[in-house]
Amino acid sequence: MLNRYNPEHIALVTIDMWDNHYCKTFAAWTNELAVRMNPFLDRVRQNGIQIIHMAADVSSAYRGTPQRDKMLLPDGVNPEDAIPDYAARPNPPGRWPVGGCVCYQSSNPEALTCPLVYNWSRLNPNLRIDDSDLIGDGEELAYYCDQRDIHWLYYVGIAGNVCVLDARPFSMEQMGYLGIKTYLIGDMTESFVTGVPREIGNIRTRLYIHRYVAPVTDSVEFIEGIEKFRANKK
Ligand SMILES: [Zn+2]
Repeated sequence: MLNRYNPEHIALVTIDMWDNHYCKTFAAWTNELAVRMNPFLDRVRQNGIQIIHMAADVSSAYRGTPQRDKMLLPDGVNPEDAIPDYAARPNPPGRWPVGGCVCYQSSNPEALTCPLVYNWSRLNPNLRIDDSDLIGDGEELAYYCDQRDIHWLYYVGIAGNVCVLDARPFSMEQMGYLGIKTYLIGDMTESFVTGVPREIGNIRTRLYIHRYVAPVTDSVEFIEGIEKFRANKK
């Protein structure tokens, strides 16, 4: 049955849950998010939903693992086959919540602006990756949805206002453009929005996504919906 709570047609996607970030305050927020996310991901697995960790820049660290190998595009399938018109997608409209160093909000008033260095190399050590999970990159998510008849993707991870939203071939905006229905699980994302406190940055990102990109839900509503669907099916 095509239903946004049917585990056969949905997947839960974690986005770029890196082990580090050029902004040291945002790296600390990500560490916290990973801890908070683990019990939720366990509930997701218990309900038979596939979890895919999309891992831009760091997926090569998992080469040779079953979780990574199962997501690789098969020989003969090119990224352009998975997303034929990547460059053609329109940019999201409206007032974009811009990302950047958020250390000025830290308890250290002397904190300086963090330099932009690519200091991430793996997924966050606080995030538990199960044997049943998958680890993907690039256009592989589009290919996976096409092959597995996935119609709905639920997004968690970082940064809500960058990689979750738009910056990757697997971002919400891109997958929506391909015809997949996307949802943001708002309380399981973290954003870094310059010039405003942490909570306001998160709220602004959720409002932006809800208005311009896709509906925003939360982890409790999501699990309740899945469990209700499964109970009715029995
Ligand atoms: Zn910073």
